[in-house]
Amino acid sequence: MEPGTTNHSARRIAAFTVGLGLSLLYFIISDNQWPSNSEFHTIMEMSATVLALFIGILALVNYYSKKEGTILFIGTGFLGTAFLDGFHGIVTSEFFIPYMPSENTSLIPWSWLASRLFLSIYLFLSFLAWRREKKSVLAKSVSEKNVYISSITLTLASFILFAFVPLTEGFFSDSVFARAEEYFPAVFFALAIIGYIRKGQWKYSGFEFWLIMSLIIGFISQAIYMSNSAYLFDLEFNMAHLLKITSYIFMLIGLLINMHNIYQQAEIANRTKSEFLNIISHELRTPLTVILGYTPLLSQPEKLPATKKMLDTLKEKGFEHQAIPDLLEKSLNEYSKFTNKMDASGKHLLSLINDMLDLSKIEANMMEIDQKVLTIRPIIIETCKQFEKSAKDKGLSLNYSSSDDQIYADERHMSQILINLIGNAIKFTDEGSINVAAVSKGDFVEFSITDTGHGINKDDIKNIFNQFTQVDGSATRNIGGSGLGLAITKRLIELHNGQISVNSELDQGTTFKFTIPRIVED
Ligand code: ADP
Repeated sequence: MEPGTTNHSARRIAAFTVGLGLSLLYFIISDNQWPSNSEFHTIMEMSATVLALFIGILALVNYYSKKEGTILFIGTGFLGTAFLDGFHGIVTSEFFIPYMPSENTSLIPWSWLASRLFLSIYLFLSFLAWRREKKSVLAKSVSEKNVYISSITLTLASFILFAFVPLTEGFFSDSVFARAEEYFPAVFFALAIIGYIRKGQWKYSGFEFWLIMSLIIGFISQAIYMSNSAYLFDLEFNMAHLLKITSYIFMLIGLLINMHNIYQQAEIANRTKSEFLNIISHELRTPLTVILGYTPLLSQPEKLPATKKMLDTLKEKGFEHQAIPDLLEKSLNEYSKFTNKMDASGKHLLSLINDMLDLSKIEANMMEIDQKVLTIRPIIIETCKQFEKSAKDKGLSLNYSSSDDQIYADERHMSQILINLIGNAIKFTDEGSINVAAVSKGDFVEFSITDTGHGINKDDIKNIFNQFTQVDGSATRNIGGSGLGLAITKRLIELHNGQISVNSELDQGTTFKFTIPRIVED
């Protein structure tokens, strides 16, 4: 739907004018002569074939961007029509006609009819597909396979019929209507017009308006012009061909509008998603940061100015009761203990929010990468220094070495990757060492983080890069984490055209290796 399109009376007038105008035109010009020939016919049919082929492909591109049964039927309808039109144009050309089992006067009308009947039925089916989808959101959507198979079968059946079966004359000159069979497609075009008009979307959607215009012209070409064609290449015959091409062009305009709308909607959805992420990140992080700003103060309540003053005063004046200093200390310790728990949970929540936002930004292709030339040694040294204390606290030795390679990467992301991997190594290792190294390997720098920790089960290894995966060992559960770190790490590495792999032995240790393309001097 195109919001803001309210000019439907103009659309109604346009449709009436075209419908009525073309019908009246017939009565004005029908006494004239406009004889053409086989070559002219072949040129018109070849143009129609190219147009129909293009429309069919465009409609299927539309369909695969936004799966609607309506567009699937239009796409397959036009593709089938393209083959039938092409076939009709070729077999009725001067060159081929001598090889055909039927005369031109049979072959041209019947193969024209096959293409028109096919298209009109598929356009009517396109309306029925919409009605079916509308009736119930739970209705099974149209099976693509069935639509394709039926369209190919019908097209092939027509080819075989025309190539091998001798046909009767396509003109009934004795009857009031020279080509009465042309009313069959007209009926389906009319049914499709009624359906789409009742659907009412033509008022708001440019695509449906042009679809109805195309159907109206298709209907007139059949009901008024071709049905009155008394012999090959007469005025009615030529007009019907011209109108067929016009109806294809109108369909093409509709599909181009549809395509434009799909892109516009995708852009709006993308913008909404990015706005949503911005709001969430701001709204969730701001209050949490404020809370976490106060928790360190509350965790040492004796240092708060008023409490400090109270303690000093009480000390100065002496306690009236012996139990008071003990109770006071106990109560301050309680504050501190609970506040530390709040602080730990708050920090965990903040890192979880940050991780979720990072991951959704990467998934939405909205993660900004600020790539520049980086020398890896200082990054390795800086990051490892951050972990020296936590490694020492656990009695682990943390060793690191690096080549002097340069990479073209985002510095913040490189640190984030290393922090995640070294942090995990320390987290899941109780004794031994952590070794961090970066060496050149061909066109890449290979980083490795090796620990002598818990290791990872073989069955779990294939899942650890998935979101929210934590190996369900009691050790992991006790240690805590979000299960997002490795998923983000992997995606960040891939954003830099690198790869990550893991090797692990239960109770022996784990090695994570990842590569980043290095800058190679000529
Ligand atoms: P978490 O936030 O839980 O650490 P990660 O995505 O970083 O999430 O890791 C997923 C899981 O992979 C961890 O819960 C842990 O079970 C396992 N894991 C990751 N690194 C190591 C390691 N160095 N040694 C053992 N297990 C690890």
